[in-house]
Amino acid sequence: MIHLHNHSDYSLLDGFGKCKKIIKRAKELGMSSIALTDHAIMSGIPEFHQYAIDNKVKPILGVELYLAYDHTNHSEDVRYHILLLAKNKTGYNNLLRLTNIANKEGFYYKPRVDLALIKQYHEGIITTSGCMASQVNQYLLNFIQSGDLAEYDKAKSVIATYVEIFGKDSYYIELQEHNIPELTQINQQLIQLAKYFGLKCVLTNDSHYVYANDARQHQAVLCIQTGSTLSNPTFAFSDDGYYIKDDNEMIATFAGYDNDLINEGMMSTYKIAEMVDEYAIKPEGYQIPKFSETPNEDLVALCQSAMASRGLQNNKIYVDRLNHELAIIKQMNFADYFLIIADLCAYAKNNKILFNARGSGAGSLVSWLLNITAPNPIQYGLLFERFLNPHRVNMPDIDLDFSERHTICQYIVNRYGSEYVAQISTFAGMKIKGGFKDFARVNDVPFNVANEISKQLMSTGNPDDDIALDEARAIAKGYQAKSALVPEVMEQAIKAMGIIRQGGVHAAGILITPKPLVEYSHHIHKKDLLKGIEYLSHLDMKQVEEFGLLKVDVLGLETLTIMAECIKLVNARHNKNYTFGNLPIEHESIFKLLATTNLDGVFQVEGQGISQAISKMKPSKVEHIIALLSLYRPATMNYIATFIDRLHGVEDVAYDHPLVENILKETFGIMVYQEQVTQILSSLAGFTTGEADMIRRAIGKKKPEIILANRGKFLEGCKSNNVSQSVAQKVWDDIVFFAGYGFNKSHSTSYALLTAKTAYLKANYQLEWYTCLLNHCKKEDKQRYLTNAQKNGIKILPPSFNSQELFTIHDDCILFGLAGVKHLGKSAYKTIRKLGSLEDALSSGLDKRILEALLYAGMLDNGDIALRYRLSKNVEFLQATKKFGLIQGNLDLFMPMLDIDYEGVDYLEKMELEYLGMTLQDNDLMLQVNNTIYGEDYQYGKITKLEPRFDKNNNQMAFIWINDERFVVFSRQWLKLSHIKQDDHIAFKTAKENIIEDIKILPLVRPPLPFSYSMVE
Ligand SMILES: [Zn+2]
Ligand SMILES: [Zn+2]
Repeated sequence: MIHLHNHSDYSLLDGFGKCKKIIKRAKELGMSSIALTDHAIMSGIPEFHQYAIDNKVKPILGVELYLAYDHTNHSEDVRYHILLLAKNKTGYNNLLRLTNIANKEGFYYKPRVDLALIKQYHEGIITTSGCMASQVNQYLLNFIQSGDLAEYDKAKSVIATYVEIFGKDSYYIELQEHNIPELTQINQQLIQLAKYFGLKCVLTNDSHYVYANDARQHQAVLCIQTGSTLSNPTFAFSDDGYYIKDDNEMIATFAGYDNDLINEGMMSTYKIAEMVDEYAIKPEGYQIPKFSETPNEDLVALCQSAMASRGLQNNKIYVDRLNHELAIIKQMNFADYFLIIADLCAYAKNNKILFNARGSGAGSLVSWLLNITAPNPIQYGLLFERFLNPHRVNMPDIDLDFSERHTICQYIVNRYGSEYVAQISTFAGMKIKGGFKDFARVNDVPFNVANEISKQLMSTGNPDDDIALDEARAIAKGYQAKSALVPEVMEQAIKAMGIIRQGGVHAAGILITPKPLVEYSHHIHKKDLLKGIEYLSHLDMKQVEEFGLLKVDVLGLETLTIMAECIKLVNARHNKNYTFGNLPIEHESIFKLLATTNLDGVFQVEGQGISQAISKMKPSKVEHIIALLSLYRPATMNYIATFIDRLHGVEDVAYDHPLVENILKETFGIMVYQEQVTQILSSLAGFTTGEADMIRRAIGKKKPEIILANRGKFLEGCKSNNVSQSVAQKVWDDIVFFAGYGFNKSHSTSYALLTAKTAYLKANYQLEWYTCLLNHCKKEDKQRYLTNAQKNGIKILPPSFNSQELFTIHDDCILFGLAGVKHLGKSAYKTIRKLGSLEDALSSGLDKRILEALLYAGMLDNGDIALRYRLSKNVEFLQATKKFGLIQGNLDLFMPMLDIDYEGVDYLEKMELEYLGMTLQDNDLMLQVNNTIYGEDYQYGKITKLEPRFDKNNNQMAFIWINDERFVVFSRQWLKLSHIKQDDHIAFKTAKENIIEDIKILPLVRPPLPFSYSMVE
């Protein structure tokens, strides 16, 4: 027989059979055909369909949907099961429509349809009376249990309705048999009803796993899903028979039933399978939305006008390259693709959204002319064939980074329509590490044992990774003494590897389809996607490619967000007119900065290792940055030192051949880029760029037989190009060595331009740069940026009632933003912004957390550290002050006077660090303490040098340096001060400029409490 009712692991953690295994089982049992009917989900179908076709098994595509009386009624939890099988492409598309509506409009606990929808979309579909949870069977169950004839009539009327919709040849009475007595009773009624209506019966087995011995495994998976354990499951199947049975097993299952009936039920499965057409579910050809009726002409016109506006229309090199690219684009039928991407970029540009293309797209002159990519590919020697190669037809792929990706996503939806745009899925399979933990839990293996074992396991999800699995088994065996179950549990986890644990959303990939999404595959309505996007396609990345669908990677890049804001700020404050496009990339200040390691926020070179490397390199051209970004990878790291030595002329360079010299000159004889390999292949052996790129790709895969085959072709080509065989041989060896390591120059060039532009902003507008950087950096970087900004001479002002939510520039300093203060929630900003002073804060009855945050961030004391200390000792009291209508003026009446001491300063510094992520004014705080102690005439400092002398009256005096500034101590003062020495921390008072009047030595170690006036005087 043919099995028509099967669930796969796409019925997440309900089904246990992988599509591959189901097909394998079908082959084993000699089934020419088999169905997939997951629960309200059709995500498994592309995979199932492919395996079936590959194994010459005819796939029957179906779904087991949930049925409500009214799918829009979201208060009545009704969901009968209904089995639907597609006869043909029309039926398949109707199934997609039904599941789509069920997800979007009918979702109430589960995606549901109703009779009206079934009626509307019934064409091309076969259906049955269903499993035990179907409408007919539930009515019959009610009848059996209550004897209420009305229920029987309801069942009868449902059958009549479906027969009317589907016709007798497409509606079957489904018989299943499990260890459920009621089911057998229902079946007796069904058999009578089949006779009454003249319908055929069909046998199915509600398979949730493939083999009989998967039963326990499947039960374990159910426990994982329901969070229960095998010893006490929340939900269990009636028996162990929910697998794909062979014919004899099926006959045995229906023992006691009439033989003719069994025969008929089995024959029906063949009849249904015969009714099902074979059809493709993947569309033919690439599915790119039509951007224009005349895409090729439009593309040519756009490029030519761009050539003219850049003054290149008569430049032969550019004209030839353009014609070459346009011819290939036309031949490959990708003009619409370029127009779509150019439109996105134009929208971004018009809305001052910064963007940058990653990857090989920068190799295209067309992309550059359309303002999609930034580097001029001819200037930087970037190759079109690295991007689009006529020998290797692939959908072009330009990944774009944006400063505001959500705005772009919204634009895509507005431009193409919400039914045409979706995000892409990821399906994570179970891995041995996590899987073992899951199975250990449901098997009651003690948590600490499971945890200990899991920590030792390799992180693999590949069921064919024998090394990892053998190791896992060995580890499990070692624990047998602690928990006898462990080896068996490990086997369960191994067996479950790869079954889908959960579905997810791909971070950046966005589908744009020419026909509505529902025409292509299963997708669901989902909240929390990128802005404006309503749907999640259940195709994953690989399937999107196989379906030939257009995918655009829309990524967010924090660097671009920082740059966009910085440019805005610089233009406003300095009356400049910078745009992303006109920021310098070859400015002296850039290279001066890159020779240091002071590179906060500078794109790609901020990390410790690479900032060291670039400062040693001291680049003087963008090309040097491109090379470094390409070389700074584990496989090529070693070449950086050689590159630098050759760049600085410390080491000589020799070339094998003048043609090679032309290509490798810019990298001092080192093969850095894939493009160089391609160019050498083509210029020495006469391959076209397209052919050369194919050979490079082939060598890069490091397959010896392919390398050998191409070697002959290369040597041959060199011979006819008059390149000596010994040179050709040597160059070939180099190529083979480097082809695997070479980097995509197009990608590095796009990135290097960003490096240069960010360096320009950092070098010339560091106040604005740090402000924007602080607003968008990762939490863990903030403290470093704050400290470095201060080291770079920027003063950071503590938060105040003038503060905005973000860091802002105030009096040429960075004013701390409220969002940077710990424990201040977003809702607090509004309240705080309305306050103007301590009085306001105290009289508005602030929450204790907020009050403390304001206090320790230094917002309540106007820089008076002694006041801060006093307030900090009275927080509870302050909170109650609303009642008293207290204002600052009469604080003294209620709050004890307190002298701040060193420990107090320590404490406040510690709190400042906690609330602001840094201490803003270490020295200022100290000074304030000393002011409190000695009065405001005193300054604070350290004696850095001391020179005792004699004056003209031969009296002792001294020159002293405080913080490296020279002061004079005349003899009258020196008499009292001769005990001072170098490195003393002091408070000092000057009479006139640089003439010391008094010095007090501060203790080196902060004294214990109390440190008060009386101790000093
Ligand atoms: Zn069911
Ligand atoms: Zn089912």
